[in-house]
Parts: sequence; structure tokens; C-alpha cells
Amino acid sequence: MQLFAPVDDLRGVGSKTAEILKKYGIRTVRDFFYNLPKDYDNYEKPVSISKIRPGKVVIRGKIDQLSARRAKRRNLSIVEGIISDGTGSIKVVWFNQNYRIKQFDPDKEYYFTGSYELKNGRYSLMSPSAALVSDIDPSAGLNPVYVAHGSLKSTDFRRLVTKSRDRFNEIPDFLPTVPKGVRKSALFNVHFPKSLEDIQKSRDYLAYEELFELILAAKLNRRENEKLKAMEIPFDLAKIQEFIKKLPFKLTDAQKKASWEIFQDMERATPMNRLLQGDVGSGKTMVAAMSAYEAIMSGAQVALLAPTAILATQHYENLKDLLEQFKITVALLTGATKDKRNLKDNIHDGKINFVIGTHALLTDDTEFKNLGLVIIDEQHRFGVEQRQRLALKSPAGLAPHLLAMTATPIPRSLQLTVFGDLSVSVLNQLPKGRRPITTRILSELEMREKLYPMLLDTVRAGQQAYWICKAIDDDSRSETISVKSRRDKLKREFPKLKIEFLHGRMKPAEKDEIMEQFSQGKIDILVSTTVVEVGVDVPNASLMVIENAELYGLAQLHQLRGRVGRGDKASFCYLLTSNDSRPSRRLLELEKSSDGFYLAEVDLKMRGPGEIYGSLQHGALDLRIATLTDTKLIYRAQNDVAKFLENPENLVKWKELMQGITKYQQITTLN
Ligand code: ADP
Ligand code: MG
Repeated sequence: MQLFAPVDDLRGVGSKTAEILKKYGIRTVRDFFYNLPKDYDNYEKPVSISKIRPGKVVIRGKIDQLSARRAKRRNLSIVEGIISDGTGSIKVVWFNQNYRIKQFDPDKEYYFTGSYELKNGRYSLMSPSAALVSDIDPSAGLNPVYVAHGSLKSTDFRRLVTKSRDRFNEIPDFLPTVPKGVRKSALFNVHFPKSLEDIQKSRDYLAYEELFELILAAKLNRRENEKLKAMEIPFDLAKIQEFIKKLPFKLTDAQKKASWEIFQDMERATPMNRLLQGDVGSGKTMVAAMSAYEAIMSGAQVALLAPTAILATQHYENLKDLLEQFKITVALLTGATKDKRNLKDNIHDGKINFVIGTHALLTDDTEFKNLGLVIIDEQHRFGVEQRQRLALKSPAGLAPHLLAMTATPIPRSLQLTVFGDLSVSVLNQLPKGRRPITTRILSELEMREKLYPMLLDTVRAGQQAYWICKAIDDDSRSETISVKSRRDKLKREFPKLKIEFLHGRMKPAEKDEIMEQFSQGKIDILVSTTVVEVGVDVPNASLMVIENAELYGLAQLHQLRGRVGRGDKASFCYLLTSNDSRPSRRLLELEKSSDGFYLAEVDLKMRGPGEIYGSLQHGALDLRIATLTDTKLIYRAQNDVAKFLENPENLVKWKELMQGITKYQQITTLN
């Protein structure tokens, strides 16, 4: 079977359907089989309305009445109706699903699956899914529910999978470490389960398979990396001491240790592959600067990549003066740089020792004379391929050493799998004299009374504030408010203050201008989206408001909060929640603790690692099944991968596996 054939190869998938599927990442026959149900409905025994109990239910009935209205306060659209089944009738409610109003034929029967709950003093069926009875084969028992993709609803996926039912038999084995046929029955049973045990068994296999791929990808990356040659950078104690003498502060012990680890790596002829982990404010940039200095002193060029132009500019301004004292030439290269040609010529000729810029720096036509070290701030994707390309660019064919910096702590389970090929240094200590950030949860109702006075006090004391909003645009369907509207509201409240807004869709030059003004203290309150999340350093900012705090992940909130408390002033972070119900555990933990490593563990336990990395910078680590907290399974997969690698023929023989792991290779290289 041609698993990598285009998805059109399947029966029932015409060019139009294929077009939609492709848009959602289902390109091949393989992708289609691996598009797993998100849940299962059991239509075998719908409950009759006369016997209904609160909780998850399936009802078979008709829609009697239906109407739509808008809730004023929340700007919510509500579709309400009555479902009856001959034994009685119940109320049904959908939020923000206006299409429901046109969906139903009053003469036809539907299965409704949802939660029957008490809301506003009355029991209702809340936002149920609905399927035409004539579309469903109830004897099938557990009915898979697929995520809808565009106009393709769950029932369409079910129809398509059913059309390809026979073809599951052709699915070949994938791994030498499991018995023959296990894979095809796992995939078949996950789409056509007869029992809950079927589903569990399938998912166990698929989780194992996924971990195997992930770990194999990481191991192969390491092998690739070890084949490359790098410039040897001898450690020079006297020079480093000169550098340290010029610093306005004493290095923390953690900074010393991390630098020492980096220096040792760079002495070797194999490229360094090191991750520098440190909580916000722990001083990663200085470790990077020392590493750059060390490399430049032995004749190498160094590139520092930042995720945004704002950050690149800031690094440039922070490091330039320090490094120029040692006759190091430093340049900034972003989209806004004028006369790029001239600058690139200077980089090419080796006249620039240290170039700081955004990612475009490396993909463009920039050529180095002797690039010895690449530093990546805040998890930018950077793979073996790119590094090989850089090695080819440099005349001696040497690959640069690589140092990646991140403020997102990596839990142990991820270190065992995804980041298995990395060396890690940790800055587990903040510089002396930092005042902790006081964090408080406030409901929106308390904004005027409690928050506004704090805001005024902050500005009167000559300090600045961030106000973080979720949305760039106003959207009538959601409860969030845009940066611009919030700015306008604050402006009306505090007409004398200088208040500006910032978001990721503004032109780079506009963003830079606003950030520049904020850095110089010319803006009192900066209303912004999370573009200020990573790395921005304005020590005079001592107050942060995070609006709709419940919409962010714990790790992200912690990162955001790290934008304040960078100077010597007492700093505050207010988490505004739009509902006045009990705050979530996430927010309570954040209020309590300022330790990023502790919070990461909490987050991992609450949400699973896929989500930490899914919603954060990574995006790509969307494991289908495997939970990275399953250490037993991780160890099993690790052992099996090691055995697999003992026989070099395996890498040739198991073609699909080798093809399948390319996407993980991108994730498992330095990010
Ligand atoms: P992060 O790890 O979040 O990137 P930075 O490198 O931006 O942190 O450092 C935060 C601030 O702390 C900067 O203003 C930096 O100059 C300062 N800093 C770094 N190291 C020390 C130190 N050892 N003692 C005092 N301040 C330090
Ligand atoms: Mg930083």
C-alpha cells in the first residue's frame, strides 16, 4: 500500500475534499489513517427524556422550537430550543453556534450528545453535538467523533473512513519491535472500536509508536551532529578575567558554572549543542555575551538570533558598549536596517565580529567569513539542516557551535525524549538584590477601585506599566477586548497619561518606535499583546496587568510577568479575570510562587507537556497520543530504539519510519 500517496487516492475523496483536507494537514493516505477520533459517542442506548439524569447523555429526538438571541452583557450569541422524544421535552442551548438555527429539519430525528446541567436555575442540554439518525449505524456501538475541518464535519470523516474500511488490512508493519499486524489492528480499532478495551489497546500502541519516533529522531540528530566538525575555541582565562572586570555587577555562581560548561564545549572539535535554561531575569544574556566574547577573541564571528526585531535591537543596545571596549565590532541586522548590502559585505569580509539580528540573518544572502558560534534567544527553530548549510557557507567547512537560551523550564520527561540529544545548563539563581514580584488576582469588577489607584501611583512615582490584552482586533463573539479599545478606555480614564498600544501585526518600524519610546520612559502605560512576552527588558517598568488572565497557560503567564521586576523597585503583577467565580488553580499557583521550575512542574501535571509546548513557542510538538508523563513507556521506547540502532540495516529497511521521523527531527533539534 502506498501510504504516502496523496489523500485523493482514497475512495470517496475527490479533488474538492482533498483540497480541504490538505488545508488541515491531511495530505497523504497515511495522514488520513492517523487522523484519530477525538472522542466516541455511544448511540446504542439513548436515554429517554423522562428518565434523564444530569451528566453526559445521548438523546434521540426532534427539535420542536428554536430561536436565537444575543446576550447583551457578554456579547454572546445564544441559540435556544426544545428537544422532545415522545417521553418528554428538555431545553437545549448553544453558545456562539449560530449555524444551529438553520441546521435542523423539524420532521427528522437526531442524536444529541452533550451535558445535561443546571444553568440559571434550570436544567438544559448544553451545546450538544447533533447527528442525523439516518446517518448513524447504531449497531456500530461506539461512534468515533472527529474534529471538524472546515466544511467537513465529523460525520463526513466517519463516512470516508468507512469507505476505506477494507484498506486498513493493507497497512504494513511500521516497527520491528512489535509483533506483526499490531499496527494495522490498532489503527483499525481506533476508527472502528467494538469496546472501550479496543480503544485503550490501540491508543497504547499508538503512543508507543509515537515515542519511538520521537526518541529515534533525537538520537539520529545527535549522530548527525557528531559527524560535523567545528572550530576549536581554546579557553583563555586571562581574557575572560579582563571581561569580568568590566561588568557592573558580580556574576552569580550559576552564571559562572554555565559559562564554564559552554567554554568546555567550545574547546572541542564537535559542535556544541547546548541549551541554557534560566528563569526570566536570571541573566542569560550575560552568559551569552561572555561566550561570544570568548569565541571572538579566538578569531571567530558570532551571530545572535532573536525572535523579534524589538529584542534584537535591545540586545544590541545592551551589549554594544560593553563589547566595543574590547575592540569587538558589533552590528544590528533587522528588517529595518538601512544599507543592508554594505553591512553584509562587512560581515562577509569579517569586519563585523558580532552580528545581532532576527532569523532572516541566516536564511538570507548573508555570508560569514568565519562563523564560529550561533546563539539563539528564546527558542528559535534551528535544525541540523540549517547548521549544515552554514557549515557549507564558511570557507573551512566548519559548523558553528550552538547555544540556545530559553526561559521555559523543560521537565525531565521532555529532556528524556524530545531534547535527548542536548546538553543543558541551568541558571537556577537570580542576581542579588532582586525584589520579588507581588502577584494578585483581581476580578474585573475590582478594576476601578483597586487597580486604577495603583496604576496612578506607579506613574506618579516615575515608573511605567504594561497592560496585556489577548486580542488585536475587537471581536463581537468573544469577551476579550482589543489593545486599541483598551488603550482608548484608559485614555479616557487618565487623559494626562501617555498611553500607547503595541501588537504583532503592526509594521516593524512602528513597533520599534513604540518600544523605543517605552524604553526611554516616554510612555507611561503600554497596552500590548504578548509580543512583549519574550525577553523585553525595561527595568523602569514595575507594574503589569494581564487582562483575561484565565486565557493563558501558566508558563506563559510566568514569562509575561517576568517583564517587570527587572529593576530594583518593588514590582506588581495583577491578574484580571473576567468572571467573578473562584480563580483557577493556575492563577492561584502563580499568585503563590515565583519559581519558574516549580510552576512548570505544576503546569505539566495539570495540562500535559503537549500543551505547554503546544501553546508556547513550539507549536510543532503536537503529540497525537503519547503523554510525555508516561515514564514507563518512555523507558521502554528508549530501550527499543537503542536496540533498533544497533543494526545499521534497520535504517534502510524501515523506510516509512525513516520518512515519518523527519518532522520530529525538526522539533528535536535545538529550538
Ligand atoms: P534573562 O535571563 O531573562 O534573559 P537578562 O539577561 O535580560 O535575563 O538579565 C536581566 C537583567 O539582569 C539585565 O538587566 C542584566 O543586565 C542584569 N544582570 C545579569 N546578570 C546579573 C548579575 N550577575 N547581577 C546583577 N544583574 C545582572
Ligand atoms: Mg532574555
